[in-house]
Amino acid sequence: MIKTEEFSADYCPKSNTQKPMTKFENCDESSQAGSTYPPVYLGQSVALLTKHGKETPLGEVLGAGLGCRIQHVSDYDTDQFGTFTRDIARVGSQLEAARAKARMGMKLSGLSIGLASEGAFGPDPVSFMLPHNLELLLWIDAGLGIEVIATASGNTNFSHKTVSAWDEAKLFAESAGFPEHYLIVRPDDQHHPQFRKGLSNWDEFNGALEWALSLSSAGKVFIETDMRAFANPTRMLTIRRAAAALVQKLHSRCPACAAPGFANSGVIRGLPCEDCGQPTEQARADIIACVRCTHQILVNRDRQFAAAGNCDYCNP
Ligand SMILES: [Zn+2]
Ligand SMILES: [Zn+2]
Repeated sequence: MIKTEEFSADYCPKSNTQKPMTKFENCDESSQAGSTYPPVYLGQSVALLTKHGKETPLGEVLGAGLGCRIQHVSDYDTDQFGTFTRDIARVGSQLEAARAKARMGMKLSGLSIGLASEGAFGPDPVSFMLPHNLELLLWIDAGLGIEVIATASGNTNFSHKTVSAWDEAKLFAESAGFPEHYLIVRPDDQHHPQFRKGLSNWDEFNGALEWALSLSSAGKVFIETDMRAFANPTRMLTIRRAAAALVQKLHSRCPACAAPGFANSGVIRGLPCEDCGQPTEQARADIIACVRCTHQILVNRDRQFAAAGNCDYCNP
């Protein structure tokens, strides 16, 4: 059972001003940028362990949004946490990988705040048709003992093709947004241990194709998109959007303990059916929870009833 607490009379996470809240549901959980507290990360240094150029977009968005300074930690090979080229498998989940990177950056820099970015690619979870990119950002503040997670998802050029001639290779490259989006080439198939990555112009790509063909036993070349951040402007945009979401979350402070990251953490299902009133699987409220203390509030959705089509009784 979820414990709920009403908003205190003078707090609305949507508003910048201390304004009495009379109607609970007027507070839209999607916009919690407002805060009645002083900025918490202004002038603070944040460790970021990356070697794929993410320090630029993250430094820009978080610097502008929070007033913090990103300290780029580069004297560590992040490929040890896993690579997109599969030569080193990622250990654990996307979140666990991000946590390991953030902790390592904090350790190497001696800073108490760490940030890490981790991307995942696969089929669109709704249509299973188009490739999909989920970017996760993890913010660790060891002083406060909190972790704040922000994500953004979007389209991606993530794809691969096995070819045997230049014409096919050229068509694939064009469809993948080459040369702005870099490519990786291997002989034979995706398991070949040798590869050329970071290919960023047509001459280089053509040379890599000839090289791979000369090494292939079957006259085949495996081409895939290079998903490292600096090699993929589409991914860079999604990372920027995740950073903007993180800024918004960190500006939202817990009304009980003032910790940053007071944000949407789940939903309550059971929106009643419009015909019979039985609870459905539709969400009736959002849970806004603190990442540090147990304080949480429920924000009711605008809709009071679910369509009968969603009801197990009316539409089994
Ligand atoms: Zn019903
Ligand atoms: Zn709290």
